[in-house]
Amino acid sequence: MTADIIDGKAFAARLKENVAQQVAHLKEQHNLTPGLAVVIVGEDPASQIYVRNKNKSTREAGMNSFEHRLPAETTQEELLALVDTLNNDPAVHGILVQLPLPGHIEENAVIDAISPAKDVDGFHVINAGLLATGGNAMIPCTPLGCLLMLKDRLGDLSGLEAVVIGRSNIVGKPMAQLLLKENCTVTVAHSRTRDLPQVIGRADIVVAAVGRPEMIQGEWIKEGATVIDVGINRLSSPDGKNRLVGDVEFEGARTRAGAITPVPGGVGPMTIACLLKNTVTAACRQHGVTEPEV
Ligand code: NAD
Repeated sequence: MTADIIDGKAFAARLKENVAQQVAHLKEQHNLTPGLAVVIVGEDPASQIYVRNKNKSTREAGMNSFEHRLPAETTQEELLALVDTLNNDPAVHGILVQLPLPGHIEENAVIDAISPAKDVDGFHVINAGLLATGGNAMIPCTPLGCLLMLKDRLGDLSGLEAVVIGRSNIVGKPMAQLLLKENCTVTVAHSRTRDLPQVIGRADIVVAAVGRPEMIQGEWIKEGATVIDVGINRLSSPDGKNRLVGDVEFEGARTRAGAITPVPGGVGPMTIACLLKNTVTAACRQHGVTEPEV
């Protein structure tokens, strides 16, 4: 068997186009322009690239993009004051504080200061609680992107065996909650799981979010399973060029899976598209407007 490749780049492009149409509708019918504020503290090069891409994509979708670049020496109080201003700014419907923050700033204090209604990353404890209890949460962008790809591929997920490898608050745990909501039988594997190959071997759906290059062996995958590889690992080649690989041994997994996301070009592009989608959702909820179906 050779797995179908799930093209996250093409899927994300369609989703962004969809969001742009929603934004055009909101502007025309409701005089509402969704706005996303992105805050970055310090000069971390990877974060700078992410933030630039987020701002560009926001503008391309026709939304307002508010960029706040703060120096690395910014104090926690100064950052919290900015978050407070953004919470109270009616033009801002979504707030994203780029992580990681410099060591002297407590990340949880900042995340918890963001209004849950504007928390388009879905990291606030209120949104985590709403997701866990079946409420109207803002859903973290990366797991949301994974779920959209799974539903596009498989349709109804009800009753399927799903294994999520990784239990972080930003990927693994919300991913497990989303799959549970879809009526999957969900197992969460992590660094203390005893027999990972056996656990993975029974899964119809494998979502890998570990951060270890090609750790999940192709031969562990059940024939025909759908594999979503969230991992982004940078390897340096002998020629000095960097190469990105996922958490799954792609070539081996391809010969067993029914479908698999590549790295790069799988989950990554979906994350930004879902951030835009969440900003539209947040704007609609804040204005009591039904999300346009386009
Ligand atoms: P994390 O470091 O917070 O969590 C890693 C998880 O992996 C932990 O829960 C740990 O228990 C588990 N783990 C570690 N070693 C293990 C092992 N040997 N066996 C089984 N489980 C093990 O990481 P994270 O923030 O959840 O991110 C995971 C990966 O996803 C990283 O590569 C990250 O770069 C990537 N990521 C990608 C996107 C995207 O947009 N594509 C977004 C977020 C994270």
